[in-house]
Amino acid sequence: MGIYNTTQKEIAKQLDSGASRSQWKDWKWQRTHLITSIDEVERLLEVKFSPERKVKLVKTLEKFPLAITPYYLSLIDTADYENDPVFRQAVPDPSELLLSACEMSDPLAEDKDSPAPQITHRYPDRVLFHVSNVCSMYCRHCTRKRKVGDRDSIPARDTLKEGIKYIAETPEVRDVLLSGGDPFLLSDKYLDWILTELGKIDHVEVIRIGTRTPVVLPYRITDELVNMLKKHQPLWVNTHFNHPREITASSKAALAKLADAGIPLGNQTVLLAGVNDCPRIMKRLVHKLVQNRVRPYYLYQCDLSEGLKHFRTPVGKGIEIIESLIGHTSGFAVPTYVIDAPGGGGKIPVMPTYLISWSTNKVVLRNYEGIITTYKEPDSYEPIFCDRNCNDCSLQLKLDGADELKSVGISRLLSDSNEAITLVPGGLERIERRSDVEEDE
Ligand SMILES: *Cc1c(COP(=O)(O)O)cnc(C)c1O
Repeated sequence: MGIYNTTQKEIAKQLDSGASRSQWKDWKWQRTHLITSIDEVERLLEVKFSPERKVKLVKTLEKFPLAITPYYLSLIDTADYENDPVFRQAVPDPSELLLSACEMSDPLAEDKDSPAPQITHRYPDRVLFHVSNVCSMYCRHCTRKRKVGDRDSIPARDTLKEGIKYIAETPEVRDVLLSGGDPFLLSDKYLDWILTELGKIDHVEVIRIGTRTPVVLPYRITDELVNMLKKHQPLWVNTHFNHPREITASSKAALAKLADAGIPLGNQTVLLAGVNDCPRIMKRLVHKLVQNRVRPYYLYQCDLSEGLKHFRTPVGKGIEIIESLIGHTSGFAVPTYVIDAPGGGGKIPVMPTYLISWSTNKVVLRNYEGIITTYKEPDSYEPIFCDRNCNDCSLQLKLDGADELKSVGISRLLSDSNEAITLVPGGLERIERRSDVEEDE
């Protein structure tokens, strides 16, 4: 699909009778011509919803607002719009109002794990920094639906300074993930300021930006933006393509600019019923991504956020998709399938089972073709017992000081230098009855 095809021309003309090709390709024009009402959707797509459906759709917008860029709207194939993957991600569905008991407004407890404004600190060495509450379009499957359309959209410099201060004062944070909203909806200047401030912090080793602009507003990736980003290496960018149809001439051009600037690109896909819950669609998507120098990073199971019921698939669908990819295609085209644990446990990878059984001698495995094979364990192995004293160890890490994080969770149970032999859940009556309850350190 070329840039500024007839559909796009027609949409542009309806929105702004004097619009030119260069205006269409101007992200600010796209931003000022967002489609925000059901009437406009009907008019621009030349479709008509039934009166009952329309009442429900309008009601949906009171809870979860609508915003679509003219560009993204132009990707909808109106011939079968109800099954169109772009339509389903952009236009509300009456099921958004059907809440289930298991759904939550903040399923990942991002607001609870927030030690400073706009910060979610969940993992030991990295934080999520919500630098923008603005998006160029409101994805119907947004996990942060609770925040969509918040008035107070761009956090003020003073608010962000508090987040930056938290990062500066927390030496274990070596990776900062800018998210939002969409960080690329900040002005180049504001984003430059944030990246510069973070760049001054010695212990921050990498910065990542999560953005959907290459998908829904590719014209945002301007030469000016890319030249600014280039100054802040090492910087990684993660995009959010969900369907091969989203990879167009315009989005390819945006990805090429970022990749040419030496910015490593990743992609996070959400598994969505009726959009991409198909092994063939997913294979097509990952192939198109790698052709455009984007490494598929995560495939997410749809979160338990309010209003997403109609998008959820069984976990089995995700496993089936990964089963269809591993071995069948390039290893670097296979994303890690994850479930983000409700309650804030973080991302949990889930995989088909390849390890079938084992003895002290052999491991039994199966491959993608169903061949069952064995791996012979070594006859002898000199175990490395680690007391975290690298100076006495034959392996040559030679850490200066023991400035390593302390071991946590299951890896703590595996560690030779930690006394912990069990992880005990809280609230166990049996344990609480013990008089000599040992306090965990
Ligand atoms: C996803 C996420 C990260 C980053 O996780 P990676 O697995 O390193 O990509 C960090 N913090 C929070 C709160 C997250 O949800």
